Amino acid sequence: WQRLTDGMRRTSSSLSDSVTGLFTKRKLDAATLEELEDALVQADLGVPAAMRITEAISAGRYNKEISPQEVKAILAGEVEKTLQPVAQPLTVDRSHKPFVILMIGVNGAGKTTTIGKLSQKFRSQGLKVMLAAGDTFRAAAIEQLKVWGERVGAPVLSREQGADAAGLAYDALQEAKANGSDVLLIDTAGRLQNKAGLMAELEKIVRVVKKFDPSAPHATLLVLDATVGQNAISQVELFQKAAGVTGLVMTKLDGTARGGILVALAEKFRIPVHFIGVGEGVEDLEPFTARDFAKAIAG
Ligand code: GDP
Repeated sequence: WQRLTDGMRRTSSSLSDSVTGLFTKRKLDAATLEELEDALVQADLGVPAAMRITEAISAGRYNKEISPQEVKAILAGEVEKTLQPVAQPLTVDRSHKPFVILMIGVNGAGKTTTIGKLSQKFRSQGLKVMLAAGDTFRAAAIEQLKVWGERVGAPVLSREQGADAAGLAYDALQEAKANGSDVLLIDTAGRLQNKAGLMAELEKIVRVVKKFDPSAPHATLLVLDATVGQNAISQVELFQKAAGVTGLVMTKLDGTARGGILVALAEKFRIPVHFIGVGEGVEDLEPFTARDFAKAIAG
């Protein structure tokens, strides 16, 4: 969480600076509230959340003096309230063997890295993990997944570049079942340049997986890069349509992140957020908790 706090300094310090600037020796009047709302929108929280938070801050305090500390405390409280319902851990239901997790997201979002980090977590819980290199489009993605598999001790099923991803997913399911794997993580392609092709491919993977086990995939995790800001909204819409999304992982919150977008996503989609990525290392994946995140945003 220290890394998150450091990484979010860019979002939060600008938000925190605006709050301090706005409320130092000033009354809570219409102009101040409008500026506050703008600052919240600038920080990616989205218009509905910005309006609600501004209203909460003004309630009962209109035309009175209010300290920046009070504003930040109310802000943190409101953000926490918005995030609390979506802050849900990812639980592996052991009655499914394997528990199938489909990993989706655009290229570069951090999918492969997150698969590595998740595998490490599952392995440390004593679970047997298998990986499927379903981004058959990019040779580098296949290689990268093999490296992660090697590092965390999880076998990787892969095929040559250009192979059919759905066929590979089916074979991986069969093999995972046969070798007694508890969890199967399926990587997928994320090339936005060909949206129609990508959607068709994901739909086919889901169809084929369901043919093997109608209850699968048991989790479909969308990996989002925090630095894309508002673009995350259209990514959720796209992947929701193509594959359905049961949970989110937001990466790169250690960098120059704009974590406010998670508030906008929670408000708009109410999809569970399971983890946040706070670095490139295998341990840099934290369970998402509303209170810590809200504190990091409010500064
Ligand atoms: P993919 O194309 O979605 O599979 O993305 P990758 O897993 O290859 O990640 C793209 C880049 O982002 C790599 O350089 C990763 O090391 C980096 N990355 C992934 N997650 C994080 C994170 O949480 N923080 C930081 N700083 N970098 C990350």
